[in-house]
Amino acid sequence: MSGLLVIVGDNVLLPDDKVPRPATVVVDLTSGKITTISPSRASRSSFPENVQWIDAGSKYVLPGLVDSHVHLNEPGRTDWEGFWTGTRAAASGGVTTVVDMPLNSIPPTVTASNLQIKRDAAYNQCFTDVAFWGGVIPNHQNHLKPLVDAGVKGFKCFLIESGVEEFPCVVEEDLKAAMDVLQDLPTTLLFHAELEHPSHEASPAVSTHPTLYSTFLASRPQTLEVDAISLVTRLQKSYPRLRCHIVHLSAASALPLVREAKASGVNLTVETCFHYLCLAADSIPDGQPQFKCCPPVREEGNRQLLWDALLDGTIDCVVSDHSPCVAELKKLDKGDIMEAWGGISTLGLGLSLLWTEGRKRGVGIGKIIDWTSKKSAQHASLDHVKGALKVGYDADIIIWDADAQFTVTKESLNFKNKLSPYEGQTLFGTVEKTLLRGHVVYDKENGFTAGTPIGKLL
Ligand SMILES: [Zn+2]
Repeated sequence: MSGLLVIVGDNVLLPDDKVPRPATVVVDLTSGKITTISPSRASRSSFPENVQWIDAGSKYVLPGLVDSHVHLNEPGRTDWEGFWTGTRAAASGGVTTVVDMPLNSIPPTVTASNLQIKRDAAYNQCFTDVAFWGGVIPNHQNHLKPLVDAGVKGFKCFLIESGVEEFPCVVEEDLKAAMDVLQDLPTTLLFHAELEHPSHEASPAVSTHPTLYSTFLASRPQTLEVDAISLVTRLQKSYPRLRCHIVHLSAASALPLVREAKASGVNLTVETCFHYLCLAADSIPDGQPQFKCCPPVREEGNRQLLWDALLDGTIDCVVSDHSPCVAELKKLDKGDIMEAWGGISTLGLGLSLLWTEGRKRGVGIGKIIDWTSKKSAQHASLDHVKGALKVGYDADIIIWDADAQFTVTKESLNFKNKLSPYEGQTLFGTVEKTLLRGHVVYDKENGFTAGTPIGKLL
């Protein structure tokens, strides 16, 4: 589609602004790029008749979210999630780019040819743009450079069993072999940072019944995360050029270690997830495996410390780690948390969750977009085109009704397996429209726009 799109509004969030302001954003629909931004509301008559015009009124105009931690699981486990359903859920919640994790699909993204299989599976199925992380597994360092050349944004590895046999975890020797190669490439190494140590003593559990949330929480103590992050920061002393990134930090007791590393100039970034900021173990009911993920959602006090760390910059970004599975593997019938697949489904809810929680704490939309769009775009090396309303950037834009409320129901979820720990919660903030490169892909009134989805593989 050619021509111009003009968006005017009273509350447009421009780069580095803490609060939205009146502005006009002009988009060239051929390139999908923002061509002009002016710091006031233009009048309709100052543009030709034939431009497309969106007047957002007092609704917020925001950059789309970049969710850099999503498991889309296709091909191979497409009954868990898929490109079509996953990216629809993302778009409905204002996410315009997702970065897919290398595991849970079969094959996993550990070779360039596997990446091509994933790209082929994703083709013409995506309502958002999609980028890919590669994976580091034992003895496959020869595949790392070809994967970088083929476009992966970085690599994820596990320091503890991943839960799927085709994606084995790595030990220190494997890491050194991989980091020897990666340190000279324009890339990043992401760690699932839980490390089991023979000397770990299980916390004295009051009960070991497998349906109790406390049983599960005691089985994944904070020390697993602390020990893993210690290993990462120690290795970084030998590989100072390579950025390392901790995915889904849950344990607040690892924060001093992160602060110390960052203060000493170590090239380390950290993410946490919506669920660690919006849920607390104290109020998780027993027998409800939809609350299970690894590392676990911890106590209320821990949650407060994660918020503090986000606000002081120790934690860089917030992502979903959307990781669903089929109902059968969630063990809902028996409520067996210990046996259930670990993964929380969130795609489409993140912005509302963080906004609802942030409002209580006086956290403005500027901060929230910083953590979910700007910083996550930087993390995935997409910040030259994504993560801000800026001239020359992709016109990935959401129109956001900050005051509207909705209750999370199964019907309101757009991902495949409609199970979420947030069901029944009433949240603030709804997406009115999601635009991808200037084109409306989701509209609250009309749903998803007809025709072939226009998401690109980045
Ligand atoms: Zn994950």
